[in-house]
Amino acid sequence: NADNFEEFDVVVVGGGPAGSTMAALVAKKGHSVLVLEKESFPRYQIGESLLPSTIHGICRLTGAADELAKAGFPLKRGGTFRWGANPEPWTFSFSVSPKMAGPTSTAYQVERSKFDEILLNNARRVGAQVREECDVIDVVEDGDRVTGVRYTDSQGVERHAAAKFVVDASGNKSRLYKRAGGKREYSEFFRSLALFGYFEGGKRLPEPTRYNILCVAFESGWFWYIPLSDTLTSVGAVVRREMAEKIQGDPEKALQALIDECPKISDFLSPAKRVTEGQYGQIRVRKDYSYHNTTFWRPGMMLVGDAACFVDPVFSSGVHLATYSSMLAARSINSVLDGVVEENAAMQEFEARYRREYSVFYEFLVSFYEMHRDENSYFWQAKKVTKASRPELESFVDLVGGVSSGEAALTSADALAERMQSHSKEFSDAVDQMGGTTGGGWGNLVNSSVVREAMVEGSKVQMQALLGEDAEDETPLFEGGLIPSPDGLSWVHAPTE
Ligand code: FAD
Repeated sequence: NADNFEEFDVVVVGGGPAGSTMAALVAKKGHSVLVLEKESFPRYQIGESLLPSTIHGICRLTGAADELAKAGFPLKRGGTFRWGANPEPWTFSFSVSPKMAGPTSTAYQVERSKFDEILLNNARRVGAQVREECDVIDVVEDGDRVTGVRYTDSQGVERHAAAKFVVDASGNKSRLYKRAGGKREYSEFFRSLALFGYFEGGKRLPEPTRYNILCVAFESGWFWYIPLSDTLTSVGAVVRREMAEKIQGDPEKALQALIDECPKISDFLSPAKRVTEGQYGQIRVRKDYSYHNTTFWRPGMMLVGDAACFVDPVFSSGVHLATYSSMLAARSINSVLDGVVEENAAMQEFEARYRREYSVFYEFLVSFYEMHRDENSYFWQAKKVTKASRPELESFVDLVGGVSSGEAALTSADALAERMQSHSKEFSDAVDQMGGTTGGGWGNLVNSSVVREAMVEGSKVQMQALLGEDAEDETPLFEGGLIPSPDGLSWVHAPTE
């Protein structure tokens, strides 16, 4: 039926941060984009604590930054951690020193229902067609190539949208990712369970850390405590996956028991009441959330955001990886549609850079867990590099292959384990030197190589977004690789000497 058939340059499945970023960056280049989103926005989502590069880099590039600045989200200057050997909480700041905090060394704590809606409306504003309550059923193929999707619209009518590229941005519950070929590999090391709810009236850290994320390690795992406004707090416990049955029996009781086990969080919640109505009224559970796909693309199809991979929430990297991967994918699609780069080269550039950034956070997080010691805890014993099973480390080495993060390419699981242990030591030494929240050692932390690496790509994205055409020329990340165009929206070949 011709009425049920349309054609676009790009069809994006899912309107979360990955999907809306993708759509905006392709629409800005003048290509036709359709976003199909299953739900009606605003809708609930977890993942509330952000990193600076998302706000000041990618959302500047998409055009959403000004709207976000008006929304009144709490300003996050960094993270405060009761973690590692130090019994006192210590603070990691996005700026080198708390006194030097510039306007771009901050991020937001966001209610995702509001944040995601702003991003999706921005995609509309810059030219994408967005249709909510449209559930994508499957991709359409022609031989090796994906050529579109089938979906059910808000009236329950089945439709076909053809596209030169289909981008799966439908998150961790994606039903399409398998169609890119490859498979999803779950991480044994990060295998955990999160149990979370919302509270009104909890305590706040003192200024200037008032709106920091607070992460507190305790025997059964760790807590996040994220101030979403002056009074609303998102509180979640990350514990062993094996506790699932007990928790699902009575999540309310289970969360309270974990809070009682953790003095810092108990104290912060002592004046608070749990929210029991509206989008924040229920206690939610998520398990098995760290994984990566063995491939991120096939001809005509790309995976971005949680549809492609996700690694542990402790450093707030989820939305960063989602929006960053979309920026890379949008550059690839734009440069192919504009006839500047051949498809294979553009897709390989996307996948290599995405894997590299994922691996930076993966390594960072393993090192971060490694630094907390609790000899009597099942949770913490399982989070030791030495306990990371060989198959897990080998699968990681396969994933990063020649595109490894860091100084040297990774070739073996042993080399990887050793490097993560040494990063962890460097990190805990830096924390030791800080001597608590008010110590003078902020610089040490940011200068430790493991932290620097996790932040480096984000800072580049920020510089590019801020300076645009004046940004310094980039050199390719990989031999014979591509570099971003001056407007940041495409890839171009690096000039040859
Ligand atoms: P999503 O946000 O999941 O968006 C996908 C969209 O696709 C949804 O709107 C969905 O309705 C739609 N969709 C799904 N299927 C279909 C379909 N068939 N057709 C059409 N549409 C469809 N990240 C952070 O940055 N900071 C944090 O503090 C943080 N904390 C976390 C805590 C936990 C416990 C977990 C599990 C994750 C956390 N994350 C955090 C990660 C964060 O939630 C995700 O990385 C992020 O939401 C990914 O964005 P996305 O756009 O890829 O997917």
